[in-house]
Amino acid sequence: MPYRFTFDLRKLPREFFEELMRVAYESRLHKRFGDIARTLVKKFRIQEFTGLNVNEAISLLEDFLEIQALNVVNRERFNGAKKSGRKVLLLPHCSRKYMDSRCKATFDPSIPTYICQHCSPDCLINQAVTLAEERGYDVYIIPGGSCVPKILASKHYEAVVGVACGMELMLGYQVTRQFGIPAQGLPLLKNGCANTWFDIKALEKIL
Ligand code: SF4
Repeated sequence: MPYRFTFDLRKLPREFFEELMRVAYESRLHKRFGDIARTLVKKFRIQEFTGLNVNEAISLLEDFLEIQALNVVNRERFNGAKKSGRKVLLLPHCSRKYMDSRCKATFDPSIPTYICQHCSPDCLINQAVTLAEERGYDVYIIPGGSCVPKILASKHYEAVVGVACGMELMLGYQVTRQFGIPAQGLPLLKNGCANTWFDIKALEKIL
């Protein structure tokens, strides 16, 4: 039923809407993720396609839902910051095409980060680095999440994009929140110690 009154909310500050989304996310939506995940697991027969058991599939989808919600909550601030501020993309080193000496990336242990030498056009990391650098991002190809605070503090970044497994992204979000930096997370669609995979088109859209 339509409202029986008229309204014009244009004079409300943008912070109000951000706060509204944040409160909705923290108070209510968040609690329903378990139910939504359970429904999606059943509907899309996730166990059948992935070999995961029910609990694993639900927990994975819960993290995906949470990341999507956090992305929505942070999107406006992130989009504003990425236009003019210093921005950074954090990539997982396990998505490199090769994990041995065939990967020609150099390694800077002081951060630590790999520096891609673009040896393989079909390497996911190569493609992501190229896309991000064209758009003005600094890029770090990191071996784990523990170096994230150091990276964020080192250059006073104002916007951050992270690619990692769902659990790492959730931890990463806590760190970016502490720094007050708007973030967008892209979860890996295939995890493991090597040959991990993320959707490069989805990353391009975020960048
Ligand atoms: S393109 Fe970069 S990350 Fe990929 S294998 Fe070559 S040097 Fe390593």
